[in-house]
Amino acid sequence: MKSFEFHRPQSVDEAVAFLKAHDAAKLLAGGQSLLPVLKLDLAEPSDLLSLQKLSGLKGVQSDGDALVVGALTTHDEVARSAEVQKRIPGLAALASGIGDAQVRNRGTLGGSVAHADPSADYPAAVVALNATVSTDRRKIAADDFFTGLFATALAADEIVTEVRFPVPEKAGYAKFPHPASKYAIVGVFVAKTAGGVRVAVTGAGAKVFRLPAVESALGAKFTADAVPTVTAASLAGAALRSEGGSPEYVANLITVMARRAVQACG
Ligand SMILES: Cc1cc2nc3c(=O)[nH]c(=O)nc-3n(C[C@H](O)[C@H](O)[C@H](O)COP(=O)(O)OP(=O)(O)OC[C@H]3O[C@@H](n4cnc5c(N)ncnc54)[C@H](O)[C@@H]3O)c2cc1C
Repeated sequence: MKSFEFHRPQSVDEAVAFLKAHDAAKLLAGGQSLLPVLKLDLAEPSDLLSLQKLSGLKGVQSDGDALVVGALTTHDEVARSAEVQKRIPGLAALASGIGDAQVRNRGTLGGSVAHADPSADYPAAVVALNATVSTDRRKIAADDFFTGLFATALAADEIVTEVRFPVPEKAGYAKFPHPASKYAIVGVFVAKTAGGVRVAVTGAGAKVFRLPAVESALGAKFTADAVPTVTAASLAGAALRSEGGSPEYVANLITVMARRAVQACG
């Protein structure tokens, strides 16, 4: 691992100013994705900026018809939050299934969405719940946030500050986890709101994607047996990753996880 300078900025503005002045600097949140990347020499930042002093980025708040989760909130804090368990239990369940206890105690929501790992769990919730990602300078709609494999709409010097999740009528998540890491081989998040149903798949493709045919079927009848069989042909635009198995196998996993996600809505 190449050596780097370590900093603890005291404010978001200070961190952004540093990033603007140092092209090769990187933010450090929980380190659960960045440190493995550094150990593998896949990135060689000149400076690491720990976000840990920015306590304003931590915590869960109810705000009218939404839950607002600070970027530095750990997966464990989301899983244990009474507000999340009461208002979006499917989101609490998703957070409780990320990695292991160590990963959940260090890893953060902001780090997860900024890293945009194709097998991460949160992107499915962000897209299915039609969340809004706030940064130091703007608000980004979920459908515009994840742009590709480990790629987002964020600029290199932009900091995620919070994610606003509209509270749905019902929501549920089901994943087929990798047996060692618990990352999603396929994960499906289903959310039902007054405006319709949104269904998002993580793990299978280069980035999270929605299933319009399943959304309209569940909009007509919200039961597990109403989920139509997802075919490999219908996933042609999803840039499926070969790690998950053949397209037919992945399509079957998506069908099964979508049905389980509806059942998980209770
Ligand atoms: C063994 C293991 C198992 C795991 N299993 C799972 C799993 O089952 N499901 C899952 O979803 N994830 C899993 N993860 C990943 C974990 O959830 C990470 O916590 C998460 O991906 C990154 O969050 P972090 O806070 O650790 O970010 P870091 O590793 O600190 O940072 C990741 C990236 O995001 C950037 N970043 C961090 N915070 C911000 C911010 N606020 N604004 C802008 N950029 C930012 C950093 O610069 C870096 O590029 C696993 C990780 C490990 C090591």
